[in-house]
Amino acid sequence: MPGNIRNVVIIGSGCSGLTAAIYAARANLAPLVIDGHEPGGQLAITTLVENFPGFPEGIQGPELIDNMRKQATRFGAEFMAGHVVKVDVNRKGNDLGKKLIEVSLGRETLLTRTLIIASGASARWLGLPNEQALIGHGVSSCATCDGFFFSGKEIAVIGGGDSAMEEALFLTRFASKVTLIHRRSEFRASKIMLDRARKHEQIEFLPDTVVDDVYDVDKKEVTGLRLYNVKTGEQWDFPTSAMFLGIGHTPNAQFVGDQLDRDGEGYLIPKGYVCSRAPGVFISGDVADRHYRQAVTAAGTGCMAALEAEKYLEEIGK
Ligand code: NAP
Repeated sequence: MPGNIRNVVIIGSGCSGLTAAIYAARANLAPLVIDGHEPGGQLAITTLVENFPGFPEGIQGPELIDNMRKQATRFGAEFMAGHVVKVDVNRKGNDLGKKLIEVSLGRETLLTRTLIIASGASARWLGLPNEQALIGHGVSSCATCDGFFFSGKEIAVIGGGDSAMEEALFLTRFASKVTLIHRRSEFRASKIMLDRARKHEQIEFLPDTVVDDVYDVDKKEVTGLRLYNVKTGEQWDFPTSAMFLGIGHTPNAQFVGDQLDRDGEGYLIPKGYVCSRAPGVFISGDVADRHYRQAVTAAGTGCMAALEAEKYLEEIGK
C-alpha cells in the first residue's frame, strides 16, 4: 500500500533529475529521486566532461554527477533504488479531492502530487562482446562529449542515419580521418546530411559492413575493430582509435504508455518547455530531447521542471 503522499517524485538520477532535485530540495519540497537502471544517467558512463560550464579544467562525468547528488542530498532530497514500471497520472486520492499521481515500482507504489519525468534516453549499443568494457576508453555514443580526445587520430563511426552523419561530420574537426561504417548500402539519413558527409574529404564510407567486435580490453583503449562484409563474407581487422556509435537512442518512457504525448519513437512531447497534458506532471532532459542531448541542456530543463512543480504545488495550496 502507498505510504505518505510525496510532494515531488523525480524519475531518473541523471543530470536533469538531479538538477530538478537540487531546486526542489532548496524549495523545501523534500523530493524523492528514483534512481532507475542507470543511476547517474549518461554522465555516469562518460569520462572527462569539458563543456559543462564552471570547470575550466573539465571534470570526470561520474564526479560531476556525484557532486550533484551530494548537493541535492544536502538540501534534503531523498533517493530510492528502483525501476518504475508504470505511472498513473490521474489517480484520485484522499488528498482533499485533489488529483494524485501513482508511481509503481513493481512491489512498491508511491503517491505524489507532482512528478518530474527525467528518465533520459539510453544510447543504443551494438551488443559486442568487448563493447561495454571499452565505454569511456574509445567507445562512445557522444561525439560532442568525447571527440576532442581523439585529435589527430582515426575514428570509426557506426550507423547510417542522421545521428551518424552528424557525428562523422563533427568528428572531422578532430580526427585525421573518419570512417563511416554502415550495415547496408542504403542510408536512412536525410539527403542533405548524407551528401554533406559524402562530399567531406576526411570521411570515408564503408557500407555493407558490420562490426563483430572491438579491441583491446587488455590495453583499456580501442585499437581496432573486427569487421565483416555482409555481401562478400570477407572478415578483417580494421585499426582505429575510437568507435563512435550513431545508431540512435531509446527514450525511457515506456512506463507512461499513452497517458502523455509521445512522438513516433517514444520521446515525450512537452507542452511549452517542460509541462505536460497531465497537471502536476513535468518532463525534463533527454526523455524529451532528441536534438541537443547535452548535460547542460538536461540540467536547464531539470531546473525548469522543478520551478514548475513548485508553482503547481503553490497553486493547489501545498
Ligand atoms: P535512425 O534514423 O533510426 O538511424 C539509426 C541508424 O543506425 C540506421 O542507419 C540503422 O541501420 C543503424 N542501426 C541501428 N541499429 C543498428 C545495429 N544494431 N547495428 C548496426 N546499425 C544499426 O536514428 P538517428 O540517426 O539517431 O535519427 C533519429 C531521428 O533523429 C531521425 O528522425 C533523424 O532525422 C533525427 N536526427 C536529426 C538530426 C539533424 O537533423 N541534425 C540529427 C540527428 C538525428 P538501418 O538503416 O540498417 O536500420
